[in-house]
Amino acid sequence: MAMKDLFEGSQVTLKGKVKRGRSRTIKFHVNFSDEIDGKNQLEIEKSGSAIFDTTISQKYELPDVPDGREYYLMTWGAEAEGIKGIKWSPDVIQVWPRTMTLEAVDDQGAKVEGFPFRFRQGMELVEARATDAEGMSSFDLTDPGPVRQIIPIAPWETIGNPTQDGRKWEATVRKKPYTATFYSPNIANDWKDDDGQLKQYVNLSGADANLGNIIRFKICPKAENGTKDQDLGMKGDSLYIQFIPDDGNCERDTPRPTLQTPGSIAKEGNTFKSKVEVPDDGELVEFALDLGLAGGDKFELKIGVTESCEDESIKIITWRKLFYKAMVPEFIKDDIGAEDLPAATTNYINGEKALKSAFVEFSLKQWINFAKVDCGADYVFKAAFFKRAGRDLYILPPGGLNPPPKPFGASDERTVDIQLCDIGISWTNEGYETIRPRISALDGANAYTFDTITNKRKYCLPKALAIARKQTAPGTYTVTAAKGSDGVDKSAGTWTALPPNNQPNHPGRENDGKAKSGNLDDWTIEVSDFRTVKITPPVAVQNLIGASSNTKCPVKIKIKFLTCHGHLGTSGGGRQVLVYDKSGPETMASTLCHELGHSMGMTIVPAGNMSPPGLEQPKHVDDKTKGPYYVNGLPLFSGGKRGLHVGPHCAWGIPEKDWKHKTFNGKPGKCIMFGAGGNNAEDKEKKYCDICVTYLKARNLKDIRTSFRSGARDPKEA
Ligand SMILES: [Zn+2]
Ligand SMILES: [Zn+2]
Repeated sequence: MAMKDLFEGSQVTLKGKVKRGRSRTIKFHVNFSDEIDGKNQLEIEKSGSAIFDTTISQKYELPDVPDGREYYLMTWGAEAEGIKGIKWSPDVIQVWPRTMTLEAVDDQGAKVEGFPFRFRQGMELVEARATDAEGMSSFDLTDPGPVRQIIPIAPWETIGNPTQDGRKWEATVRKKPYTATFYSPNIANDWKDDDGQLKQYVNLSGADANLGNIIRFKICPKAENGTKDQDLGMKGDSLYIQFIPDDGNCERDTPRPTLQTPGSIAKEGNTFKSKVEVPDDGELVEFALDLGLAGGDKFELKIGVTESCEDESIKIITWRKLFYKAMVPEFIKDDIGAEDLPAATTNYINGEKALKSAFVEFSLKQWINFAKVDCGADYVFKAAFFKRAGRDLYILPPGGLNPPPKPFGASDERTVDIQLCDIGISWTNEGYETIRPRISALDGANAYTFDTITNKRKYCLPKALAIARKQTAPGTYTVTAAKGSDGVDKSAGTWTALPPNNQPNHPGRENDGKAKSGNLDDWTIEVSDFRTVKITPPVAVQNLIGASSNTKCPVKIKIKFLTCHGHLGTSGGGRQVLVYDKSGPETMASTLCHELGHSMGMTIVPAGNMSPPGLEQPKHVDDKTKGPYYVNGLPLFSGGKRGLHVGPHCAWGIPEKDWKHKTFNGKPGKCIMFGAGGNNAEDKEKKYCDICVTYLKARNLKDIRTSFRSGARDPKEA
């Protein structure tokens, strides 16, 4: 006996043989395991031929499997007329329905359209299909045999097992409810601030999702049990997204924060709304946010399976991060103790008054020590030359040494290279300044001493620092007549006696009665430190100098000295000089923040740095509606120009009535972007004023090395 599986409607060929003799009728006997059309068996007659050993065939179409039966068995045999006995075929045919139906209903018995399922025959999983408007699906089997399983496709499931009644299946089904959830990025906990907001560093780039102004999201369904299950999403399912920039965000408009989705986007007030569809069964929905480049902007992102987007939300706040590399000679590093700026300095820098207010973080990238021998011979001075005690001093001109004592390595647009020193100097634009001291007394060494700081608030330093440096402390260099090489220029200098008017024969007069005068060729002029100019007249003039009397009189000289400022720091093109002074950690901090402020394009004055795009030009001290910004230059009192501090600065904190002051010298500027500092107690209280904060927050800080002046870096929209 052999079992054969066949579909209903298949044709089987019944065969009988006439072995000999005349033509006979063959009678086929067909037996069914179940009643078919009321019968369990039937007979089919077929005439055969009389030819010897002829096979008689009869095609027979297998009847349909009766309702309520999974299959039936069929056997058959042949009986020749007049010959006793039936010859039975060894085959047992198992007959299966070719077409089945599935009816899907919900738990109330209502028909369910669109219930998706596959079914399994043997090991084979057959292509998915879904029920029609009548809740029905009719499907052909590919092989005759039993259907093992009806498998719902997520998010659908069956309630209980589907039941089979012959060729009819019935399933009670429901669509699993799901909510929308964020599938990626996987936001790390340490990317969030104390309020649970994602800190997005919009000026950086990198693999981590919290770097950059664009965040790409993927969202998917979340099952009732709380697991992310993208299989729940089916092609065409709707998900909703809302992107809500905060009302208080800055006005920067390039790039303007936006939502980018594959769906259409509507804007209601500040809120971007989009409806998106699951692109295919089990696929994720992708979209992106552009947060713009400003700092301190807040956003909320909400997603949901309904328009109100109530499933999940993320809060985001934008930050920027900048870095510094510090290069320090070892003898200064020994003073610092650690390989970073003092904690009091970095705390202030990253604190509320300073960078935190502008949503900027500033952190050490690299600390580079170098040996004293690499300082460059011209830049190490005995302390006594600067009237100090202790170790040698490292001084730096504006911008520091270029090239620096050691390489800073590859430059990065978000990193400033800081050279630390003990004293920062810069020569004033005016160069040599004429002074006219009146000498009416000499000291015990027959010399007169002129202090450039007491009298002029300026250092006296030759540009060829070696001239000053080569003297051993307390050193003195003697000024030669050659103009330009020394800190003092006596080449065009003169002296003039000032005899009393009523004494025509005074030794301070020539024979013709004119006051005596001459050049300074015979005068010895020495500079013993950065501020002290020692002037020794020739003996004849020494004898004349004194308070006015019959024999003595004062002498006036005219001489020039090269004016130089001491400063706390300078910046430009990504390079900074910073004076290290451990007694003034907050001064160091506010200086660094001040210079960093310049690197961030502050302040903003006409013909200077451009406003960030989308923001109005701020007001300067000469505007009708006044603002605190000013810049050095001429003519004074126009366009915010004043007579001190190189570069654009901020006079916030100085009473407005004093904004007409020519220089703001000695005025109490309270903004970090004020042009002067150096008193640690005052510097500690300085902050970026609200106006500076507004503009700092709006700045594009992807690059702080290129100038903001031309506007090429942070252009206004045309
Ligand atoms: Zn400045
Ligand atoms: Zn300010």
